[in-house]
Amino acid sequence: MALSLFNTLSLKVEEFTPSDGRTVRMYSCGPTVYNYAHIGNLRTFTFNDTLRRWLRYRGFVLNHVMNITDVEDKIIRKSMELGIPMSEYTLKYEKFFLEDMDTMRLEKPEKIVRATEHIHEMVELIEQLQTKGFTYDSDGSVYYRISKFPGYGKLSHHDFSGIQAGARVDNDEYDKDDARDFVLWKARKGQEPAWDAPFGAGRPGWHIECSAMAMKYLGDTLDIHTGGVDLAFPHHENEIAQSEGASGKPFARFWIHCEHLHVDMQKMSKSLGNIFTLRDLVELGHTPEALRFVLMSVPYRKKLNFTLESLQGAQTSIDRLRNYKLRIQTDKLAEGSNEAVTKLAAEALAKFEASMDDDLNTAEALAAVFEFIRETNTMLDQGQFFEGNRAAALDLLARFDTVFDILEVKVAAGGMEDSAVEALIAERTAAKKAKQFSRSDEIRNQLLEAGIVLEDTKDGVRWKRK
Ligand code: AMP
Ligand code: ZN
Repeated sequence: MALSLFNTLSLKVEEFTPSDGRTVRMYSCGPTVYNYAHIGNLRTFTFNDTLRRWLRYRGFVLNHVMNITDVEDKIIRKSMELGIPMSEYTLKYEKFFLEDMDTMRLEKPEKIVRATEHIHEMVELIEQLQTKGFTYDSDGSVYYRISKFPGYGKLSHHDFSGIQAGARVDNDEYDKDDARDFVLWKARKGQEPAWDAPFGAGRPGWHIECSAMAMKYLGDTLDIHTGGVDLAFPHHENEIAQSEGASGKPFARFWIHCEHLHVDMQKMSKSLGNIFTLRDLVELGHTPEALRFVLMSVPYRKKLNFTLESLQGAQTSIDRLRNYKLRIQTDKLAEGSNEAVTKLAAEALAKFEASMDDDLNTAEALAAVFEFIRETNTMLDQGQFFEGNRAAALDLLARFDTVFDILEVKVAAGGMEDSAVEALIAERTAAKKAKQFSRSDEIRNQLLEAGIVLEDTKDGVRWKRK
């Protein structure tokens, strides 16, 4: 089966190829940088990462753009309360966000773009919409008249035909039942940061931001647009109305939405106050890989109820994978090859790939790999796994890890590099041979302090990071 993805627009799982057959032009709504990202946000960004990696695994090239929302109501309020320029406030949280992305091993989109650096493009887009009759002005603000766009509602699959014409809304977020003409340009209030525009000093609404930046960098029709489910309405519906209103062409071929992360069955959100950040979890002693594993282990369209226990389970699974890899790399094996292992490896790889192709079914993909590990661990114990079987097992793990990216232990800043560890182990082996046991113990302790655990086996010394 070819790579297929669930498209919110058609409500169907559809086969995906980029329109030019090669490069995926993809846009993801990025963070609003007014606070630390919580792990619900990180679920959506980890989903973007999984999608990116799988598209590349399938041979496509990526041209992926993500925005940083660095002007909106909460940001303006907070920076004014603190009496600092808006950019000073947002750059701080943007930096934290990018650090969290690194810690979570999330690949960076090819372009990360700030809203405040694209005001000109937004003004131009609003002017195009004005020329085409999609807008009206009121008290220095500009609104989109949704009754002018017949396709309004096609993404959220909601019939808006009976809505009250002319009623309008200045907030960026609202419910379907509240659908009204939305704001494209907000007239300046008080001392708020503002930009000059032909329609008067003010600032852009949130929705126009994504339409303007996506079209600037990716053209009128994107291959994929992603975001969390909460963005489908009104944000993405409004993006469609703006972009298609201006260009007359379909805005995105695939709309892909990641389900929410919940805590105690409630959505994790800053306003409910039930949030964890990545930094909270690391402080509690959990690893970023464990969070990565938890977020990836549930397919993106299913709700995920987060618990701290699930992080412990994830760490056990990661350790199991790493120990298995170490065993395959270092066990002394008899010459030869067992056909049964070769067959199992081929089957596991086929199931792994088919699961990922099936709308990124990460749970099934993981199951395929763990099943292979269970079976071949038994074969290793029973001497049925040979030298000639190593490569296929390592190849499966390597392919798995191009997407899951949890096998390698990343050296923390200031941590010991692999080559330094190997050199100390060689020195310890020599010291032991020369019966200099205090030196060999000293090296073992030095390594332990650096988080390296040694294991003396009949096949020599194995080591791993704690
Ligand atoms: P924000 O920084 O609020 O603009 O949100 C950034 C991204 O996180 C958006 O794509 C949201 O849809 C997504 N998001 C917000 N809350 C959650 C949650 N609890 N679970 C998953 N994704 C979320
Ligand atoms: Zn957006």
